[in-house]
Amino acid sequence: MALCKGVLLFIFQAIVCFCFFNSSQGNQQFSLRNLPPLQKASSFPATRPETYDYIVVGGGTAGCPLAATLSLKYRVLLLERGGSPYGNRNVSYMENFHIGLSNMAPDSASQAFVSTDGVINARARVLGGGTCINAGFYSRASSSFIQEVGWDEDLVKESFPWVEDKIVQWPKIAPWQAALRDGLLQAGVSPFNGYTYDHVSGTKVGGTIFDESGYRHTAADLLAAGNPSNLRVLLHASVHKIVFNSQQGRLKPRATGVQFADENGRLHQAFLNSNRDSEVIVSAGAIGSPQLLLLSGIGPKNDLKNHNIPVVLHNKYVGTGMADNPMNSIFIPTKSPPRQSLIEIVGITEAGVFIEASSGFGQSSESIHCHHGIMSAEIGQLSTIPPKQRSLQKAQKYAHTKLNLPKEIFQGGFILEKIDGPLSTGHLALIDTDVRNNPAVTFNYFNHPQDLTRCVYGIKTIERILKTNRFSELAADNAGFSMERVLNMSVQANVNLIPKHTNDTESLEQFCRDTVITIWHYHGGCHVGKVVDRQHRVLGVSGVRVVDGSTFSRSPGTNPQATVMMMGRYFGVKILRERLGQAAVCN
Ligand code: FAD
Repeated sequence: MALCKGVLLFIFQAIVCFCFFNSSQGNQQFSLRNLPPLQKASSFPATRPETYDYIVVGGGTAGCPLAATLSLKYRVLLLERGGSPYGNRNVSYMENFHIGLSNMAPDSASQAFVSTDGVINARARVLGGGTCINAGFYSRASSSFIQEVGWDEDLVKESFPWVEDKIVQWPKIAPWQAALRDGLLQAGVSPFNGYTYDHVSGTKVGGTIFDESGYRHTAADLLAAGNPSNLRVLLHASVHKIVFNSQQGRLKPRATGVQFADENGRLHQAFLNSNRDSEVIVSAGAIGSPQLLLLSGIGPKNDLKNHNIPVVLHNKYVGTGMADNPMNSIFIPTKSPPRQSLIEIVGITEAGVFIEASSGFGQSSESIHCHHGIMSAEIGQLSTIPPKQRSLQKAQKYAHTKLNLPKEIFQGGFILEKIDGPLSTGHLALIDTDVRNNPAVTFNYFNHPQDLTRCVYGIKTIERILKTNRFSELAADNAGFSMERVLNMSVQANVNLIPKHTNDTESLEQFCRDTVITIWHYHGGCHVGKVVDRQHRVLGVSGVRVVDGSTFSRSPGTNPQATVMMMGRYFGVKILRERLGQAAVCN
């Protein structure tokens, strides 16, 4: 009896231990109870404007952790042009990833744009930013990246777990991802580094912001770590410009606040208080931040004058150095709909090519009736439209008329390759002065021959993975794959607006150029040393910083969101420490 009691006690303790261990993973213990009220922009007082220590423009991946951290000690206004992620099914559920991306409505959480290269792309328009529409994979920057950008390594080491403890999980590996893991290892992308957030050569399982049920946790959740009585969050608040006081005799123009429009189009002004440390911090993303600086009069003076924007500061570098990591994908049809999976595994090759995979986006009963977005096969049918007539509108029209296509062509998965640190770069320029519209963005994919060489290396690595036959049991006809066949299907499944060539399956260089798409890791436009200093203060003016992916000259890690969220926390703590000393933040 005593033995029996002992065994029961042991089992009970083991269960408690197991539950505790599980609940200490990811966000189980992080509560959203402390979220500040998410108010409409029209609620902003028109008559007696409030003043703030910090105005953060853009409640995205960097902006949310930054605003939360600053609010622990100061009054913060966070202005986000999009709506709330809470209650939006396209945001919250992984199964709707592609449906959200292809929603072209003006209030969609994703705003599509087509770069002048002919590649369909997306930018976030929702509180939580890119973390609300992305594929969820979580993987830290390498230590060499942290050293290159000159960040305090100890503070970086504290800031990553601050994010991870709240919103990151380990994935439950899907069959498609398990096949990739085994294929990568058999193809020599080794060693296997297990479950890790670290950026290390070989094959690994990374983190994810989706929980086991496919529910998405986002940077918006991080607002609950702030002080709600110091943090005012306004939704549908599109900032039109930063307002400067350029009095004569002043050395530098100084930011005094911002002008923004509410959801009814009504204009408001929000002001900084008179403290000399108060700042406008721009976290509007790699498209939004350079766009906003230009609209505020900071940029190449001739371009500004062409749009009748009064010049606050001539800086020819605003909008330059835009880069997007080219992605090329191989489509593999399957005999039955594979379980949906976004990125869970990554192969990190020494050549700076990363291999990832996704499966099962295209065949759900809901999605079969709509434009399948960038990750599916159907837009490949656009190749039947003459190149000059291809446009986003044509893609939408096509989506409405293709309901009779056989389901099977939407059934399968992709193996993707991404080039790290592309040497091909481009630029961003205003098309008009309406902040709601996309600027013109050019990435010049594969202009640099080394990028093309690495793309070919990546496709050959995928060929080696396919030869391991790890995918043949999932394939449509059990046959395994000839490379010519999968290249041919991949050209058909391709979703860009670039004209195709007859030698796409013979020349891997041509295949890379013609089927390039985006992995949405675009960055640049406000580079350190050109537009901002090492503390991310905008050069030549005072009271403005930029904290987001626009400051990167290469995208960190295999995928950037981990580092961008960490960066928001990092700069928040850094700013507090600059003002209040080392002990400024303890939670
Ligand atoms: P954002 O998060 O885009 O934040 C900018 C915010 O500013 C937005 O909320 C926007 O609405 C707001 N804004 C812009 N202009 C204004 C204005 N004038 N006034 C007010 N608000 C404004 N990364 C990964 O690590 N893993 C992945 O799996 C992954 N998959 C991706 C899939 C997709 C479809 C996309 C789009 C991205 C993906 N990424 C992924 C990349 C990653 O999500 C982004 O690099 C990152 O979120 C960018 O963060 P940011 O803070 O620079 O910009």
